[in-house]
Amino acid sequence: MESLLKLCVLCPLLIFSGCCKSDAHAGHHHPHSEVAKEGNFLCGKCGEIKNSDKCCDPNAQKCGCGLIHGSPGCCKIDKGADVKLCAHCGQVKGTETCCKKDAKTCSKCGLHKGSPGCCKIEKK
Ligand SMILES: [Zn+2]
Ligand SMILES: [Zn+2]
Ligand SMILES: [Zn+2]
Ligand SMILES: [Zn+2]
Repeated sequence: MESLLKLCVLCPLLIFSGCCKSDAHAGHHHPHSEVAKEGNFLCGKCGEIKNSDKCCDPNAQKCGCGLIHGSPGCCKIDKGADVKLCAHCGQVKGTETCCKKDAKTCSKCGLHKGSPGCCKIEKK
């Protein structure tokens, strides 16, 4: 009888602690928020927004610059390494045009009009 009583007391505790463990474990997996933290990159291989649906699409038409024709990076970035876009202005981060005060802003997205990120990335 005594052991039965002990089991009854321990059972809910065991279930509770097991539940807590699995919750904490799940809390470490947030792939989406990690991507958001890294910001937006232009793919150096194709010129599209990195990891977007169009990124490195083998059927896409290529421009003379080697990137996908009409992609945000087409004729704007050098083919090769990925390029980070500024989330405040949409321009390539750290360039002369990045966050320039007199630049025209897009009425739809608030980023610099015609910048690689204009209407492609979210303004922060
Ligand atoms: Zn790509
Ligand atoms: Zn081009
Ligand atoms: Zn900027
Ligand atoms: Zn825009």
